[in-house]
Amino acid sequence: MLPDIKSLNREEIESRFAAWNQPAYRVAQLLDWLYVRRATDWNAMSNLPKALREKLREQFTLQTLELVHKQGTEDTTQKFLWKLADGALIESVLIPANPALYGEASDRHTLCISTQVGCAYGCKFCASGLEGWKRNLDVQEILEQILAVERHVTNAQRAVAVADAPGVPRGDETGGETPPEPAGGTPAPPGSPLEAASPPATRNPSRTVDNVVVMGMGEPLANYDHLLKALKILNAPWGGGIGARKITISTSGLAPQIRRLATEPLQFRLAISLHGATDAVRNRLMPVNKKYPLAELVAACETYQRVKGRMITLEYILIAGINDSLDQVCPLAGLAKRLFAKVNLIPYNRVEDLPWQRPSEEVCEGFLAALEKQKITATLRREKGGDIDAACGQLRLKTERALAGA
Ligand code: SF4
Repeated sequence: MLPDIKSLNREEIESRFAAWNQPAYRVAQLLDWLYVRRATDWNAMSNLPKALREKLREQFTLQTLELVHKQGTEDTTQKFLWKLADGALIESVLIPANPALYGEASDRHTLCISTQVGCAYGCKFCASGLEGWKRNLDVQEILEQILAVERHVTNAQRAVAVADAPGVPRGDETGGETPPEPAGGTPAPPGSPLEAASPPATRNPSRTVDNVVVMGMGEPLANYDHLLKALKILNAPWGGGIGARKITISTSGLAPQIRRLATEPLQFRLAISLHGATDAVRNRLMPVNKKYPLAELVAACETYQRVKGRMITLEYILIAGINDSLDQVCPLAGLAKRLFAKVNLIPYNRVEDLPWQRPSEEVCEGFLAALEKQKITATLRREKGGDIDAACGQLRLKTERALAGA
């Protein structure tokens, strides 16, 4: 198996190009094609000599993700189901940015990405772990989720801009087809309607995704090395150019890896999928708590908080009759105060075959009010997601089962 070019960082590409006697500026040209123009084809890299493109093609793959299915519309939450090179399926979710949850007021889009195919951690409420863990994602598979979503959004915007341009036939006049993206992100031909609709190939302005949350399928810190390499490329000015403070890593509670993350120089945000404020509740929902009980998890979070000086987020899925009673408010508020953490309350999204239920709106609002009364900074996710199989891993699970049935 050839390595993928996006699994290499800048230093690794530089040393390969030096061994091939390529001038240093070729590295910057290649990186521009990969992370600014989001190229999907070696042939599109028109300012690289043909011989260099051939050498790259012989020694590396240039993987992309195949879109199997998309749910949601351009101005709401959109869920993407991707097929990887080996046929495995993963999900990414593009969310209109919500500064109360993640990011800042100036952000437009947050992307939630996956790090594994399936999950070994078996949280009882979660669709992602229902059929076990299959494998870790490679570096390029983690990065490609951002690039592939951005290609999709750019294409959709181009299609709208071209359709609205004067003199361009409407979709129904051309058999309903939308204009294709120029191959591999190549600039559109001069004078064509596509040229007017093409954004300039500059670094940050070309990013659709402002914020990344690593909270999709899989336990991110169980794929630590690939995740950190991908996030460093995503953060680098020569790569994705997304600030570390706009990248949130969420974990179900792998205490040793949280301590390791505290030693990384980059200031990633940390979120804990807590879902229970006592060992009794967490043990019922999350097997990981038996290995790393709350005392150990909280101690690791305190280390992270002390070293990084960053506010931690506690994610708390409200599940009817399990963790939504007011007697859970005090222990949760106690943990939040101890960790200087804010709390994100997320009403449960139903998963087929699982017995858990979403609490009523009144119960969720009451839980939020009780937390706020304890002077805890808390938010309640109010958008409805049931119509797009909002539970993490649900769309993949349904598709895999449908394919197996067929
Ligand atoms: S909640 Fe996260 S850690 Fe738990 S099973 Fe689902 S994907 Fe894995």
